[in-house]
Amino acid sequence: MANVGFIGLGHMGKPMARNLMKAGHRVAGFDIVAGAAAAAGTRAVESASEAVRKADAVITMLPSGTEVRQVYLGEGGLLLAARPGTLVIDCSTIDVTTARQVNIAAAARGLQMIDAPVSGGVKGAEDGTLTFMVGGEESACEAARPFLGSMGRNVIHAGAAGNGQVAKICNNLMLGVAMIGVCEAFVLAEKLGLADQKLFDIVAKSSGQSWALTSYCPVPGPVPTSPANRAYQPGFTAAMMLKDLILAQQAAHAARAPAPLGAAAAATYSLFAAMGHGDLDFSGIITMLRGGRPAEPQPAP
Ligand code: NAD
Repeated sequence: MANVGFIGLGHMGKPMARNLMKAGHRVAGFDIVAGAAAAAGTRAVESASEAVRKADAVITMLPSGTEVRQVYLGEGGLLLAARPGTLVIDCSTIDVTTARQVNIAAAARGLQMIDAPVSGGVKGAEDGTLTFMVGGEESACEAARPFLGSMGRNVIHAGAAGNGQVAKICNNLMLGVAMIGVCEAFVLAEKLGLADQKLFDIVAKSSGQSWALTSYCPVPGPVPTSPANRAYQPGFTAAMMLKDLILAQQAAHAARAPAPLGAAAAATYSLFAAMGHGDLDFSGIITMLRGGRPAEPQPAP
């Protein structure tokens, strides 16, 4: 069993750290929010550098590239504090450029580093069923498998450093565009008098079928577990989808890759978030396309 330093114990980091401890690892935790590391059940320490100093492996689960730069490269950054040979795993979803730059800085310090963003959300983190998309040296990916295997079900090596982030933003680009397409089709069918369930039954067996339809249906009824059945409580928030669509747009501009539907999806989610619905599930965008409101707030009892 190993000593693990875990930095960023928010919605995702907390259950991930718990699963590492369940697997027998000793976890030292740090988060800028007082009490978050202790609430996760880790041995709470005072700084990122203290969390990594004696660690065999380090895992970070931070909001964005800004925090990753600060925690890795900033004053008292973890790259200076970790022992040479330490395995460093960044599970945050961040921009590809930062992922690659931090990886180079880690290698220069003699650390093995991978980017390993996840799919599966908070439920996947709690159940230990996440999918990890890994960028970096094959040997570092293999070294990380026992740790990632305690927190998830699938570990897929995507190639060189940063390719985990490439896979993640491409996945969410497809998902964001697909979800809006599914929502537009339901709204059109409703206006033309075709029942939601009928459309679902037909398209689920036709060429328009997609995960957004058959696993995460944006109307209540056809898929009982989808957020549509609980007034679009997340799930995966519209704000998170917007963040990933913006990352995809930035990468597309930098690579000169045309992504006009990704741009339209980002603009549509940005409007939904600006209307105050960023904390609803991303499938709730159907309510905006209908011209209605998501669930009305309930009066206090
Ligand atoms: P979160 O905001 O709940 O957690 C991030 C944690 O990092 C917070 O507790 C915050 O206090 C801490 N933090 C910020 N700056 C820090 C610093 N300098 N030092 C130490 N701690 C710091 O976010 P989350 O929902 O857990 O998501 C984390 C990452 O996972 C994001 O990159 C997100 O895009 C990605 N992700 C989230 C989901 C999801 O469903 N929530 C799904 C897939 C991927």
